[in-house]
Order: sequence, then C-alpha cells, then structure tokens
Amino acid sequence: MANETYETTCCVAGGGPAGMMLGYLLARAGVAVTVLEKHNDFFRDFRGDTVHPSTMELMYELGILEDFLKVPHQKLETVGGIYGDFAFRVGDFRYVPTHCKFVALMPQWDFLNFLAGKAKQFPAFNLRMKYEAVDLVRDGGRIAGVAAQTPEGPVQIRADLVVGCDGRHSITRQAAHFEVQEFGVPIDVLWFRISRTTNDPEQLLGNLNYGKALILIPRDDYFQAGLIIPKGSFGEIQREGLDVFRNLVRRIAPYLGDRVEELKDWEQVKLLSVQINRLRQWHRPGLLCIGDAAHAMSPAGGVGINLAIQDAVATANLLAGPLREGRVTEAMLAQLQRRREFPTRVTQFMQVNAHRALQHIFQTSGPAKAPWQLKAAVRIPGLQHVMARVVGVGVRPEHIRGARKRQACDGQYIKRLAVGVGLVAAGAVLAARLLRSSARRRYAEAPGVGSRS
Ligand SMILES: Cc1cc2nc3c(=O)[nH]c(=O)nc-3n(C[C@H](O)[C@H](O)[C@H](O)COP(=O)(O)OP(=O)(O)OC[C@H]3O[C@@H](n4cnc5c(N)ncnc54)[C@H](O)[C@@H]3O)c2cc1C
Repeated sequence: MANETYETTCCVAGGGPAGMMLGYLLARAGVAVTVLEKHNDFFRDFRGDTVHPSTMELMYELGILEDFLKVPHQKLETVGGIYGDFAFRVGDFRYVPTHCKFVALMPQWDFLNFLAGKAKQFPAFNLRMKYEAVDLVRDGGRIAGVAAQTPEGPVQIRADLVVGCDGRHSITRQAAHFEVQEFGVPIDVLWFRISRTTNDPEQLLGNLNYGKALILIPRDDYFQAGLIIPKGSFGEIQREGLDVFRNLVRRIAPYLGDRVEELKDWEQVKLLSVQINRLRQWHRPGLLCIGDAAHAMSPAGGVGINLAIQDAVATANLLAGPLREGRVTEAMLAQLQRRREFPTRVTQFMQVNAHRALQHIFQTSGPAKAPWQLKAAVRIPGLQHVMARVVGVGVRPEHIRGARKRQACDGQYIKRLAVGVGLVAAGAVLAARLLRSSARRRYAEAPGVGSRS
C-alpha cells in the first residue's frame, strides 16, 4: 500500500527524450505535469547522442534553439561509409529545409539536462528523480495514476492521464497488458570508446568489412564506437579473447592503429541488445504510451530519439487543451495513435530492411567487396539529399502548435526534392529492368535452352 498520494493532471512515467519533451511542452501550455524518472540523474548507458535537424527546428519554434546551440556539441553535416575499400557518402544534411542543416552530436544527458532546465522555468512542471514506476493505479476500468517506489518509500501519483514514456522495458505497458508485436532483430551492438586524433575522419562513418559493421561516431576527443554483431554472438567473441577482438576492430578501421590497445578489459565493452517492436494499441482509458514504450526502435539510422520527440510534440498538440479543460477522451488517445503510427511503421520498416542488408555483410568473413548495386546507387543524383531528409527530418514531422513561424519548405526545395525522389525511383526501375533483361539474356544463352524451345 502506498504511504503518500499526490495529485496532478498528467503523470509522465520516464524522463527520456519523449518524457522530458512532453513534460516541457505540457508545462509550457499550463498543464500540471509530473515526470517520474527512476534514476538519480540522466548520466547512464549510451542511448544515442543524436539531435536531429527536425528536433532543432522544434527548439527554434519554441525560441530555445540559441541556448541549445551553446551546449557543447559536434556538427555532423554528412554521413558516409567505407565498404571494403570503397568510400561513399550516403546523406548530406546541408540541404534539409530546417534552420540547422546538420545533426548535433551531444551526450544525451546534456540534452535531457537542457530540457529539464527549460521545463523547470514553468511552475506547472514537476520532475521527480529516483521515482520508479512499479505499477499502474486503477479506478474501475480506468487507469487513474502510477504507483512508484521512491527512496522515502512507495507513493501513488494520481492523474487524469498517465503517459508511459519509460522506454523499451516499459513497466507501464506491461502493467496495462498491452499486446506487443515483435519484429525479429538479427543484431546486437557492442559499445566502447576509442580516442580520436585530428587526422581521423570528421564525419560519422560506417565501416563494413570482415563480416562486421563498425560505426564510429566522432565526439570531442574520442570515438563512440559501435560494433554490430550477429545476435547472441558476444559470448563467442569473448571466448576468442580480447586480442582477437582488438585485431578485428583494427582490421575493419585500420586508421585506428594502435589505439585499439586502449581496450584492456571486457568491462570497457558494453553489450546492448537491439529490439524492434510495436504495441498493437497504444492506449487504454486514462493511459497512453509513446516513444520506445509504444514502439522500441533499433539504432539503425539513429532516428529513435527523433521519433520519440515527435510523438511528444503530437501528444502535447492534441491533448494540452483537453487536459487543461479535463475532457480527454479515449477517442483522442486513439487519434494520437493514428497520427503517429504511420511514421512509426515506415521508420521501423526501413530499420528491418537495414538489418537484412547487414545480414549479407555477416555472411562474408574475409575482406568485403562493395556490390555494384551500392556503387551505382550512391551515384544517383539527389539520393544524398533524400536520405538526409528521411533521416534528419523523418516522416510526418510535427510542429509546435501556435509557435513562431518555421522555416518554410520553399518552392525551390520542394522542386529539388521531387526531382531527387523522381530520379531515385527512375534509377531503381532502370536497375530492375537491366537486371531482368540481363538475367533473360543469360538464360537464353545457357546451353540447352535453345533446344528446348
Ligand atoms: C544501442 C542503442 C543505440 C541507439 N542509438 C541511437 C542513436 O544514436 N540515435 C537515436 O535517435 N536513437 C538511438 N537509439 C534508439 C533510442 O535510444 C530510443 O529510440 C529513444 O531513446 C527512445 O526515447 P524514449 O524517451 O521513448 O525512451 P528512453 O530513451 O528509453 O527513455 C526512457 C526513460 O524512462 C526511464 N524509466 C524506465 N523505466 C522507468 C520506470 N519504471 N520508472 C521511471 N522511469 C523509468 C529511463 O531511465 C529513461 O530515462 C538507440 C537504441 C539502442 C538500443
């Protein structure tokens, strides 16, 4: 039994990107909101350090972009890779239709601290650290709050609406017995740091070779490295020993040289298991789940944070008024799901396909040779702009309701984008036709084919 009971209008369980953005926006709109975060601070395991152009556009609309850009960060203007010995660029953010034409690389705890600092300026905002949601409070058929464990003992936070923003291991979604659709994921990620020198590549690079993919995210004086491995293979990698592991990393990214010797202990290498899943229904009377709690995202494309924030913006746009007036209905929660499910489905579809492509890489343990399809695809004019738009802005970007005027998607940009999309589509059709006709030719020339016809 809870010792103490608090009351609020909206209780947000989880202070990650979705929860902090939602808390900020609701408090700004004058809705009493309590955000519960189970940790004492925002400083913990790597969960993605990318702040996308569309997220910075939201901060522009909110009038806090200038302050945000004062927080130390690195700018990522292009994204590329090295497949075997073939270097390519896959996305160029310098043309996205937003004020910031780059991805900001900022430790997530700095970003969350920044949001918390801004939210605390509103009297309606209440952030409770070390409050761990352990169950939902029920009132008849309705969710009426959250039961939480705190250093002072158990408490109940009763609310008109509970929003589950507690990530992929969400307690709120478990307690509500939501049905989860799992999309098998064939990869895990090993995260570690390696120091960086001024001669290293400036931009984020995917290094694909020797049956593995190594992502190197440039930070101030180090790389945040992610080695993508087949799911469940970490045990085998550990059994082979740290020496083999260091040599593998060095072979994939030779420019790291002797710096791989900085890895002295398996303690420095963290296994992060990857999931992609989605709730069939994101809501019950009195409860809504958003962000990873509604749809766990893989790191592929580095888009999960952006999607979680977009969910929060859509939630605040739709529900701030009804919350203030005490008239939130389940139909409104269903409307929110309808709005956000489409971009989620499209993004998860792309992530599942990116994982499939990685499986091809896992199949070759020797030096990799870039397939001609990749070499041809990266030359398609406009592709880099389209990819940057998909990653940097995403599908169905949200905007702050009633905010300052945003960067217009000018006519010229739309024309350029349309030409780019057209060329990508035409290239794909042409490639498919070429493949089909060369397959037909090979078939016709094959011994014995003529005699059968
Ligand atoms: C290995 C890995 C790397 C990734 N890299 C990137 C990347 O580079 N870029 C990107 O955009 N996305 C990345 N993602 C995806 C991204 O991390 C998520 O999509 C995003 O963090 C979702 O935000 P969220 O706020 O919904 O959930 P989370 O970020 O998971 O936040 C949930 C919050 O709730 C808190 N919490 C959990 N349970 C409770 C509880 N019971 N009570 C109270 N609080 C609770 C947690 O402490 C946390 O603060 C990565 C994912 C993985 C697994």
